Amino acid sequence: MALELRPNCEYCDKDLPPNATDARICTFECTFCADCVDTKLHNVCPNCGGGFERRPIRPANEWRPGLSVAKRPASSQRRHLSYSLDDIAAHSARISHIPPEQR
Ligand SMILES: [Zn+2]
Ligand SMILES: [Zn+2]
Repeated sequence: MALELRPNCEYCDKDLPPNATDARICTFECTFCADCVDTKLHNVCPNCGGGFERRPIRPANEWRPGLSVAKRPASSQRRHLSYSLDDIAAHSARISHIPPEQR
């Protein structure tokens, strides 16, 4: 089971193609852009409360059989927020002071 490469930032809807260097992801594959993670979410996933890391880039070249972005394509299902902006701001404020490894 490969990482689900979601096509957009769930917060601002920016496109995040498989080779985006500003895609950030939580352990549940919730996906946001770096700007939203830094300025809106303060490194708190609005869905799970965990922190984010940079999403790895799936290789365009098929260096090994079957393992390229063409053979294992990104998801096309755009995701959107499940909570209101006010709720998300309160959620971040409640959690962001706790380091991810202690949440
Ligand atoms: Zn964003
Ligand atoms: Zn999450």
